[in-house]
Amino acid sequence: MAAVTRIPGFGGGLILPAHDAYDRRRAVWNGIVDRRPAAILRCASDEDVVAAVRFARETDLEIAVKCGGHSVLGLSVPNGGVMIDLTPLSAVRVDPQRRKAWVAGGSLLRNLDVGAEPHGLATTAGNVSHTGVGGLTLGGGMGWLARQFGLSCDNVEAYTVVTADGHIVRATESENADLFWGLRGGGGNFGIVTEFEFRLHPIGGRSLVVELEFEAADARDAMHGWRDLLPDAPRAATLTASAVTARDRPVVTLGYVWVGEVDKGLEYLSTIRELGQPAAERVREMSYVELQSMSDDPNGHGRRRYSKGHYLTELSDGAIDAFLARGVSTDPTGTDWARVPNGGFQAYGGAIADVGDDDGAFSYRRTLVEFGCGTAWVDPAEDGARVSAARAYGAAMEPFANGVYVNALGDEGQDGVRRAYSSRKLAKLVDLKRRYDPDNAFHLNQNILPATGNRT
Ligand SMILES: Cc1cc2nc3c(=O)[nH]c(=O)nc-3n(C[C@H](O)[C@H](O)[C@H](O)COP(=O)(O)OP(=O)(O)OC[C@H]3O[C@@H](n4cnc5c(N)ncnc54)[C@H](O)[C@@H]3O)c2cc1C
Repeated sequence: MAAVTRIPGFGGGLILPAHDAYDRRRAVWNGIVDRRPAAILRCASDEDVVAAVRFARETDLEIAVKCGGHSVLGLSVPNGGVMIDLTPLSAVRVDPQRRKAWVAGGSLLRNLDVGAEPHGLATTAGNVSHTGVGGLTLGGGMGWLARQFGLSCDNVEAYTVVTADGHIVRATESENADLFWGLRGGGGNFGIVTEFEFRLHPIGGRSLVVELEFEAADARDAMHGWRDLLPDAPRAATLTASAVTARDRPVVTLGYVWVGEVDKGLEYLSTIRELGQPAAERVREMSYVELQSMSDDPNGHGRRRYSKGHYLTELSDGAIDAFLARGVSTDPTGTDWARVPNGGFQAYGGAIADVGDDDGAFSYRRTLVEFGCGTAWVDPAEDGARVSAARAYGAAMEPFANGVYVNALGDEGQDGVRRAYSSRKLAKLVDLKRRYDPDNAFHLNQNILPATGNRT
């Protein structure tokens, strides 16, 4: 690329490879990602985003869009292309009377949560506060409030979008309704969202995090009991299970996260205590914003990461056994548990399933639980073994799964995209892509293919 000194209409920050901040700005959450954009365009207004898109298209440079930078594949960093960095666009405006928040397209979840909390309001956002509102909401958006208020995308009333031909459009239920449908789960395929208009909800009370910890070898019966609680759990409770390594041993925690009236949340403790006699019990009470950042540190930036996910509509005994085994298929004696991937289940249901299946691109409203497994390490020499172990865990769970969350996809490629949407919705997404981005300018995402379609 010829040296860029000025981009017509662009008033944001231009960072080229020689710039002091270049390495800091191209780094994303997953430390394994090490790609070198030709230019990083830090956009501070909708007009900057328009100018950036037009510039990239006129110079034929690949476009990547960065919000929180949490895509595990590092899809927001192109090799040699233009990184459209939305992070300067992080303003959140709240109208407490109308219970609405206008959230700029480069905001992190913490900007949204912290902006709404002083008014006693919130909307569904994910569980780690340094994740981007942009990528999370466009794929669906699961969080501790989803069983009460639906996914993040179910709470968006309007999107402001810069299209592939560099125009600014609005998408609502009545304005560009086809685009509105696609943005509810279709990811970053259709344009760059510069503002989300969210519906907020009063969240009286506080939050509870309840965990009963069992030795892994004793956890099977308790986990069967946990499974039986899933269909009728109160909406304020999101049931959780994890199979992890703690103090060099495999342990299983079963419990729930509660948001709302804490007294009722504490009453539910008696139900969960019937699961069995745990080795330890932890009950923590905190504010909603504290809950939202509780997992920030263990999920911090810079370590090397690999993960797999699945959606399950039922949880059979076989699925529970595979979950507990964590991809270790041979005799576990002598296993170095510190290197075995951790696994987790998070309950769906409640308000997620109330939304009509045809209302948006998101495809798995009947999910009972989402499974995720992941591994984090520092030494590049461990890359091969770490990735293989997480793949083995994911593969052991796959026979029990019926689909996958698009935001949990990593390197699955088109097989993954086909698993993330029903075939009917995928066909509709391809039509939409042909209308809004026929040249596939926005392809660094879990990509909808306008030319060929996504079916084999
Ligand atoms: C630690 C961690 C915790 C997570 N927790 C949750 C969770 O609780 N719930 C949940 O649902 N998911 C969760 N996820 C998954 C998360 O939703 C996805 O990784 C998501 O893609 C992250 O979005 P981002 O903006 O941070 O990432 P980025 O890498 O910046 O973007 C991801 C994709 O979205 C596109 N994109 C981002 N912003 C925009 C925009 N404004 N307009 C158009 N396209 C855009 C990008 O081009 C890219 O393709 C988590 C991920 C991590 C790493």
